[in-house]
Amino acid sequence: MAAKKSKAKAVTSAQFQELIVKHLRSTYGTDEKKANDQAWWKATCSAVNEMIFERLTETQKSNAVNDSRAVHYLSLEFLMGRLTINNLHNVKVFDQAREALKALGKDINEICDEEPDMALGNGGLGRLAACFIDSLATLNYPAVGYGIHYEHGLFRQDIQGGRQIERPDSWREYGNPWEICRPESVQEIPLYGYVETVFGEDGQLRKVWHAGRKIKGVPWDIPVVGYEAQTVNVLRLWESKAADFFDWDVFNAGGYIDSQAEKSQAEAVSKVLYPNDETEAGKELRLIQQYFFCACSLKDIIRRYKRNHSDFSNFSKQAVIQLNDTHPTVAIPELMRILVDEEGLNWDDAWKVCNESFAYTNHTLLPEALEKWGVHLFEKVLPRHIEVIYEINRRFLEDVVEKKWPGNDEMKRRLSIIEEGESRMVRMAYLAVVGSFKTNGVAAMHSELVKEDLFPEFYELWPERFVNVTNGVTPRRWLLACNEQLAKMYDKTVGTDWPLHLDQLKGAAKLADNTKFQKEFMAIKREKKVELADEIEKLCGIKVSPDAMFNILIKRLHEYKRQHLALLHILALYRRLLENPDYDMGPQVFIFGSKAAPGYKLAKDIIYAINKVADKVNNDERIKGKLKVVFMPNYRVTLAEKLFPAGDVSLQISTAGFEASGTGNMKFALNGALTIGTMDGANVEIREEVGDENIFIFGKNCDEVKALKAEGYNPWDYYYANPELKAVLDWLDTDFFTPGKPGELSSIKNSMLDGGDPYLCLADYESFTNQYVNVDAAYRDQAKWAKMAIINSASVGKFNSDRSIEDYVERIWKLEKVLPKQ
Ligand SMILES: *Cc1c(COP(=O)(O)O)cnc(C)c1O
Repeated sequence: MAAKKSKAKAVTSAQFQELIVKHLRSTYGTDEKKANDQAWWKATCSAVNEMIFERLTETQKSNAVNDSRAVHYLSLEFLMGRLTINNLHNVKVFDQAREALKALGKDINEICDEEPDMALGNGGLGRLAACFIDSLATLNYPAVGYGIHYEHGLFRQDIQGGRQIERPDSWREYGNPWEICRPESVQEIPLYGYVETVFGEDGQLRKVWHAGRKIKGVPWDIPVVGYEAQTVNVLRLWESKAADFFDWDVFNAGGYIDSQAEKSQAEAVSKVLYPNDETEAGKELRLIQQYFFCACSLKDIIRRYKRNHSDFSNFSKQAVIQLNDTHPTVAIPELMRILVDEEGLNWDDAWKVCNESFAYTNHTLLPEALEKWGVHLFEKVLPRHIEVIYEINRRFLEDVVEKKWPGNDEMKRRLSIIEEGESRMVRMAYLAVVGSFKTNGVAAMHSELVKEDLFPEFYELWPERFVNVTNGVTPRRWLLACNEQLAKMYDKTVGTDWPLHLDQLKGAAKLADNTKFQKEFMAIKREKKVELADEIEKLCGIKVSPDAMFNILIKRLHEYKRQHLALLHILALYRRLLENPDYDMGPQVFIFGSKAAPGYKLAKDIIYAINKVADKVNNDERIKGKLKVVFMPNYRVTLAEKLFPAGDVSLQISTAGFEASGTGNMKFALNGALTIGTMDGANVEIREEVGDENIFIFGKNCDEVKALKAEGYNPWDYYYANPELKAVLDWLDTDFFTPGKPGELSSIKNSMLDGGDPYLCLADYESFTNQYVNVDAAYRDQAKWAKMAIINSASVGKFNSDRSIEDYVERIWKLEKVLPKQ
């Protein structure tokens, strides 16, 4: 169906004002005089919800009538951030809402500051899921996001004495106006217990799983509003509750306390998000979380399918299920179990349904991040699923591997879904590849590495299964809503369609040499830097000049992302300034934002070191304010929205071969920052789009990294070869930054020397710090810089998530657009 554009019925600001007042009074039981900001915010949400819910219903009706094929995006994380401003923009009533609130004596930004972040994710992977459901709705594709309704999202980060302290996040403590509970779609989920083999009436053996416990899944729907709001899809999040059956005998026999214990166990399942970005060791509760939301979601998908179908022959035509990383892989044996044990399909038919329904996105090559679950844990928690996995594996090894490599037991051992050893493990990534019809990486380079290094044998077996879909970010949130000034300028320059067709920004690249345009562009950048400088002073008490170059490194803290390499460079600059007060360098600010996994000791030490170095540098009068270092606490989507527009330089400095894609790199370039980065992830494709002369590449590329490791990398060689590098590393052993406490920063030096420097900081140091001299020089030529910044912003249309979604649709999902009637 052609996407006919029909504009939303326009609401005037006067009408919007009436709606807000109506909801203040009748929904929140207050009035304009008494209401606090929280009530104003909720009333504003309820006002726009009148428009949103209507379209939600229309969308669901159209999808039901058309019996449309839909994608089901299964993700353990959705890093949504705030929804109010984004939803107002997408419904195209932002200006009316602002006017309405102004007429009521309220500032829209202050009111919207009441909204807590919906931080149901750790970082890039969860944010990607959020951008994807935005794009799916915008492009009018039938889609449901499925995840967990965590009571506590990612922890809030406080900094005390320079160290990270984790505090619980309670995003819905006072109610959330966006979510709708759907008691009519509650599911019951079995766990534990044992498997019985019985003879069916047909004389066939059948497996019956007798659960040891049952928990209830309660769905909460969050509307996902497409831009211009024709389609409103849902994000359905499952909350765990104790199952309904209540043991009255236990209760009456004085077991009230026991029954409460059962209740808290059930509710523990959706209590907290695991705060680990890359790895999660074999925790029972984590496996239960994964199974819980997959089982609830599959039941939901099947229930909807059965409304229009009496058998499963059309299931894979109607439903495609995308696994966001291996976290939801247990959905594969779960669907097999349902089809074989409960629906009575034979194995081959069931396997065909499964195999044609699932697709898997790989997000990481880090060996420690490839999920494995102990067979013992599976036997305990999911006794039937481990049997199903054994059977999937047996058939895979006997029918597929044996055919391709006859008699090759070594190959069978290598490709087995079960890893043999002291304790046997289920390799979830192998199960995901075997059980799905497509496996994709998330950037061109990453997808090549998935084929060549991660799954070479699987690639040999099924080359047609492996595809690339480069990540993207939604330009609605990451330009239109977070950088109003630049958005307005693009409206003037290339027209107002760019939020739906980001390639059209290309039209502005033609003006990159135009002095007036350059001045205007840089004036906007400065405005965003002033806004950020105010925020820095408010949050950190540090004064920074908006005329300094803003270097920003914001992402989860991980050795492979190399925040500590940036720290070495900062130490070198500081040292140069101390040794030579006339050292030729423009004023620079380095801004960090990052959460460390609570159990990741070195990551937390790096945060501490950044803060300690900042204390010293920021207060050293000798360097005359030429260098400032800022660590902004509690990095999250809402803070990111202030940081990306204010960056001059975007640091994307991961060891080549380790960052699958990155999406922060895209948000920065779109907002006119220049990248200093390695040939890694999507940096490679950003370079292709903006041109080599408009990006600062440094360091070893992926092949060079591999070669260096193969020949035996010795960080000490680099330490002794570069006196400045040696000096800054040795500095970390002194008490210069931690007076009276030498050794507090030594763990960082140790990791890069005795620890073997696994991410090659020392090998890339010189190239990095040399390239930075060029960045500094380029920045001091403001006309040249403006030109480069404009070209960056105008040339990264490719990295919008609408393009990613169209790639998924074409290469994997094969969906048709469905336009709800207006
Ligand atoms: C974009 C984003 C990320 C991902 O950043 P990378 O640099 O790609 O790791 C993480 N967290 C937040 C809040 C983001 O907005």
